[in-house]
Amino acid sequence: MTRPRTVVIVGGGISGLATAFSLHEKATQAGLPIRCTILESESSWGGKIVTHRVGEMVTEAGPDSFLSQKQAGLDLCVKLGLADQLINTNEMGKKASVFYGGRLHDLPEGLLSFVPNQLGSFFRSGLLTWTGLARMGLEIAVPPGPSTGDESLAAFLRRRFGAQAFERVLEPLMAGIYAGDAEHMSLRATFPRFFELEQQHGSIVRGMMAAKKAVSLASTVQPRRTMFVSLKNGLSELVTALTSRLTQQGVELRVGARVEALRVRSHELGRWMYDLILEDGSAHSAESVVLATPAYVSAELLRPLTPIAGGLLDMIPYASTATIAMTFPRTLTSAIEGFGFIVPRTEQRHVIAATWTSLKWPYRAPADQLLVRCYVGGVGREDILQLDDDALTTRVREELAAVCGISVEPNYTEVNRWWKAMPQYMLGHLDRLAQLEAAVSRYPGLVLTGAGYRGVGIPDCIRDGAVASEQVVQDLLGKTNVVRRSTTKIG
Ligand SMILES: Cc1cc2nc3c(=O)[nH]c(=O)nc-3n(C[C@H](O)[C@H](O)[C@H](O)COP(=O)(O)OP(=O)(O)OC[C@H]3O[C@@H](n4cnc5c(N)ncnc54)[C@H](O)[C@@H]3O)c2cc1C
Repeated sequence: MTRPRTVVIVGGGISGLATAFSLHEKATQAGLPIRCTILESESSWGGKIVTHRVGEMVTEAGPDSFLSQKQAGLDLCVKLGLADQLINTNEMGKKASVFYGGRLHDLPEGLLSFVPNQLGSFFRSGLLTWTGLARMGLEIAVPPGPSTGDESLAAFLRRRFGAQAFERVLEPLMAGIYAGDAEHMSLRATFPRFFELEQQHGSIVRGMMAAKKAVSLASTVQPRRTMFVSLKNGLSELVTALTSRLTQQGVELRVGARVEALRVRSHELGRWMYDLILEDGSAHSAESVVLATPAYVSAELLRPLTPIAGGLLDMIPYASTATIAMTFPRTLTSAIEGFGFIVPRTEQRHVIAATWTSLKWPYRAPADQLLVRCYVGGVGREDILQLDDDALTTRVREELAAVCGISVEPNYTEVNRWWKAMPQYMLGHLDRLAQLEAAVSRYPGLVLTGAGYRGVGIPDCIRDGAVASEQVVQDLLGKTNVVRRSTTKIG
């Protein structure tokens, strides 16, 4: 029997786990026996995906859902037998609000589809003035920007929809996803679809309408999914299902295994060999290494092999954030309805978004409790993270009281801090990725994946892990350069 080829994946977040899952599929298809190990520095799997279960309550410390439109997340759940565990957002009260000018304004659900019939509800919400609304409506007449070069997310959205719609709605909705500053974020790296729609249809609104028409024409037998979906017992279910499937497949899963250094022994027996040095001094060798770690960790591991790659990875900054979950007795006021609210940067508040978790999702809290999750931090707003848990919670409660009048003591509070957690795709990100790719391509079998590169969302990480696994298989088959990562699409 052919000796199995050895692969080590460093990092057991969703990117590393999804890479291992896809690697098993792809290697099997290629008839390539593989022995795969995943090394994770922490004591548990899943990285940013952390679900807490407290009595009847389910809280998410990190991500609480994923986009259903990006197929990779749903597909993985189905393959893992989790289809019946997928949950939609609640049908009731489907709306979100914006806290602007000292009060909450309604935002219709599906706003991101930018279809004109929603402009009326925009106006009724009082969020935009007539002029702001008219400028937003003129989007279809704004000529497309250049097809080359990069543009900041802020410049693009202001150019297409006007300053008011940008400041009051689009900035908190879009930059908020990255906990970033839209003035410095690369449009093409963060929202490539907007760039494509502008180039193909001359307008985002026109492009969205065409896409909507195409979807309604296509007959589909898929179960109906809301824009965001989650899992009944929380997103950690995905991690548990993945680790148990990988164990069945013979993947070696090691927690508490921090990789401190990476060395290369070139062309041993005609093959490349990599040595991973662990914190305890032990070494682990493999013919292929996938770094599914945050970019700043991968930078340190790669620097001795390629200082250029190390330098390029240093140019992917990360923002720190925190989530604060609280429960209150469920007495609803008109301010506490819908799914939650977002806060534009210009409001200079600490809370950048809040979710009425138990109104948005089923299976999250007992019926007599309101579970709320507030999000703080992000680029330019990280000072609040210096406060201790009590002071941080007090500050957040003051803002909740000001926004929607919740002034009672919470029954339960949970603070989760995320240091250097959200990668920022700054202007020029895609060019730097291409240079990074060129620098790393000198080392066949060495592959980078993870949220730092081609999408921060869970489906993006899963999709990029599949591309990474394909590259591993091709490299091990000696077909290096067949799959060039820099040519794979983002989004
Ligand atoms: C607060 C928050 C809310 C979010 N909300 C959403 C959401 O609702 N929907 C969504 O789609 N996305 C969301 N995201 C983004 C998404 O969760 C992340 O981008 C994604 O989970 C990152 O996965 P990853 O595997 O690339 O990285 P990580 O999860 O960071 O995994 C990397 C792993 O590498 C390990 N590691 C690091 N160094 C070493 C080393 N030296 N040796 C071995 N192992 C090492 C780490 O311990 C970690 O487990 C959110 C993120 C945060 C922080």
